[in-house]
Amino acid sequence: TKYVYRFGGGANDGGAGDKFLLGGKGANLDGMASIGLPVPPGFTISTEMCTRYYQDGEVFPDSLKAEVAEGLRHIEAITGKNFGDAADPLLVSVRSGARVSMPGMMDTVLNLGLNDATVEGLAQVSGDERFAWDSYRRFVQMYSDVVLGLDHDAFEEALEIMKEDNGFFSDTEMEAKHWKALVAEYMALVQDQWGKPFPQDVHDQLWGAVAAVFGSWQSERAKVYRRLNDIPAEWGTAVNVQAMVFGNMGDTSATGVAFTRNPSTGENLYYGEFLINAQGEDVVAGIRTPQYLTRQAREEANAKPQSMEEAMSETYAELARVFDILEKHYRDMQDIEFTVERGKLWMLQTRSGKRTAKAALRIAVDMANEGLITEEEAIARVDPMALDQLLHPSLDPAAVRDVLTKGLPASPGAASGLIVFDADTAERRNEMGDSVILVRIETSPEDIHGMHAARGILTARGGMTSHAAVVARGMGRPCVSGAGSLSIDNKERVLRIGKRELREGDTITIDGTTGEVMMGSVPTVQPELVGDFGVLMGWADKVRRLKVRTNAETPEDCRVARDFGAEGIGLCRTEHMFFEASRITNVRQMILAEDEAGRRAALEKLLPEQRADFHSIFEVMAGLPVTIRLLDPPLHEFLPHSESEFAEVAQAAGVGVEVLKRRANELHEFNPMLGHRGCRLGVTYPEIYEMQARAIFEAACDVAAESGAAPIPEVMIPLVATRRELELMKKVVDVAAEMVFAEKGRRIEYLVGTMIELPRAALMADEIAEVGEFFSFGTNDLTQTTLGVSRDDAGRFLTQYVDKGIFARDPFVSLDIEGVGQLIEIAVQKGRKTRPDIKLGICGEHGGDPASIAFCETTGLDYVSASPYRVPIARLAAAQAAL
Ligand code: PEP
Ligand code: MG
Repeated sequence: TKYVYRFGGGANDGGAGDKFLLGGKGANLDGMASIGLPVPPGFTISTEMCTRYYQDGEVFPDSLKAEVAEGLRHIEAITGKNFGDAADPLLVSVRSGARVSMPGMMDTVLNLGLNDATVEGLAQVSGDERFAWDSYRRFVQMYSDVVLGLDHDAFEEALEIMKEDNGFFSDTEMEAKHWKALVAEYMALVQDQWGKPFPQDVHDQLWGAVAAVFGSWQSERAKVYRRLNDIPAEWGTAVNVQAMVFGNMGDTSATGVAFTRNPSTGENLYYGEFLINAQGEDVVAGIRTPQYLTRQAREEANAKPQSMEEAMSETYAELARVFDILEKHYRDMQDIEFTVERGKLWMLQTRSGKRTAKAALRIAVDMANEGLITEEEAIARVDPMALDQLLHPSLDPAAVRDVLTKGLPASPGAASGLIVFDADTAERRNEMGDSVILVRIETSPEDIHGMHAARGILTARGGMTSHAAVVARGMGRPCVSGAGSLSIDNKERVLRIGKRELREGDTITIDGTTGEVMMGSVPTVQPELVGDFGVLMGWADKVRRLKVRTNAETPEDCRVARDFGAEGIGLCRTEHMFFEASRITNVRQMILAEDEAGRRAALEKLLPEQRADFHSIFEVMAGLPVTIRLLDPPLHEFLPHSESEFAEVAQAAGVGVEVLKRRANELHEFNPMLGHRGCRLGVTYPEIYEMQARAIFEAACDVAAESGAAPIPEVMIPLVATRRELELMKKVVDVAAEMVFAEKGRRIEYLVGTMIELPRAALMADEIAEVGEFFSFGTNDLTQTTLGVSRDDAGRFLTQYVDKGIFARDPFVSLDIEGVGQLIEIAVQKGRKTRPDIKLGICGEHGGDPASIAFCETTGLDYVSASPYRVPIARLAAAQAAL
């Protein structure tokens, strides 16, 4: 097998653009080189090598040596420099590159090829001794950190002391002799910490770096990231070895990162940051505050230092030309790294840029309108789950704010939470149910789990392209970065902002849209979904076949869902109405009744309340189908559990504590999920379902009389396992309907159907469909009963099940298609055989999960039903499934 692929200088080794083989970075370097853009020559060791490396027990095959040697000769031939040549050395960068960009892996080693001899040669040919020694110290520091795994802080500290001893404030004051002295200190640190001298052989250096890249694929950080992002471990990473170009060769040199459109807002404007006389890591690490790329951006930010457009107008014009070529070529917004070496532009990387949901929408819609992509492609470009970001609240403009400081608006959205200073605490407090804001000087890949656990992220250092900003945008977490006035004392666990002092556990609010940091918890408002959102949703609605309904039981939720485009209610859980504080007393009276007469008396009082509930829902959902599920949970859920509650409840219900306790005891169940619940309640106490049915039809008739728009009630019976259960319950509902219609002097169209949430119901769907007029798959219970995994207890072990690959994803979040999905397929097929026009939907949590929605599309369901905030996600996912 061939493992090394060269790029640059007109060489093309095949595999061009193949991300699977070359990784994302390698494929795009090859791609840029092949369309004639200025790319320093190099070669890529393919992802196949990574896989083999692990298969073979972390050793390289002999054949790789020769291939790498040939790769080096390719670079040498084009640059005219030789690797390890003491007179005029070739230096290379070594970078990882998985198929998708993946924080948590070894990222980059720059200036590789420097040693005690070649540094002198570099000083000679560049005519810049300071530059040569600065490059050497950077290399030793980076290599020691990422390849040798030595303590990074010790190196930073040595640099700080060196500066202090010389009375310097910034790195730029360091001269050649200082860098040289620092290198000597670094060498001693390496010897001390590593027990061996720093590798002087440039080939040892190279192989060390290559092995470190492959080794980092199995680092804990990388594994966490893969788990959070569903990236398979088999993919592996590639390694890119490329000739160095230098952005730190004086004031005509620079380095920068840029986006071809604004990744935060999606505006079609170049966007980026650059630093004069610097190397790439200086921008990303946020050590110096970068300058703006365009004049417009600089002026808008009221910043002083010249933009690249002003400071290097010719190179900037060339860069702008490259941006346009890249966007046309890749037909997407690009995220670019570049270096200017003595006025000459070099492209180091391009990839599809990460963006906020807002930007994703705008870019997709704009590009379709520009004719760069089709409407279908625009639909496919937006991750449905990313819409979540847009659907969440922003700060109430009318709210009083106590603004502590302002940083960069790095990732939009507002969040409040308790201050925590490290990722582990963030994770722990989150598990305890607290909302937290992770506050760090700057973040690094070690913080990923904490960033995930936090509601928002606040950093003191770093720009819009810092680690914190990029990762937060990708995760959809609000982030304020580079809030320079923060002073964080990790030891004392305090945060100082000016004269104010905040402690860990104090509440703050951050607004990632404006960059503001506020004291306390600031109220928020719902987003308005217009503009690009509306346009894309309109396109999605044109192509989707599945209808989208919502799970809701309050008029407010119904209204939100309708605004989000819900086309009906797929699940109204009536027990939520029973739990309402104002009526729980009547519910308890019903439960405590000793006989049917007593129950009926209590139900009599509940009837007008239920009727009013349905009345207001029918008003909001006028003309749309509304699926109402009759009472489902076991009755003891409505009774108190603690001693203190018993007395209170007994008094309110007008019974003795002893009576209440006896009844609670009678109702106690060892396995309530499989106990006296669902239609079993209706079978034993038909008067409950009778009252609910009556409330539904009375409300429906009233709304029809008042508004002329009759709702279409679909009465749904839960937890049915047999045809006979459904038959009995349908009878109760039909009798109630006829009585109400006779009393009201009008008829309403309605259906009676069932949930399919037990395996037996799925298997016997042909029989059940003889009675049931619709099926709604209750995949929460169906997953629980098919897997024999309790939905309430699964949390304790499911993470491990996912980690160990037993389940690809949590089956309560994303449908187990092979198992539970098979039961759904059987039920669909059998149900249709009996009743060809049977209405089929899904109302478990999976109705809002894109992968499960794709399954519902192929299975031919009529609709999915999701919680209100998931309705837009479901609309887009349904459209993508139909493409
Ligand atoms: C289900 O079981 O999937 C369902 C929607 O019902 P619930 O979650 O109320 O049990
Ligand atoms: Mg259920």
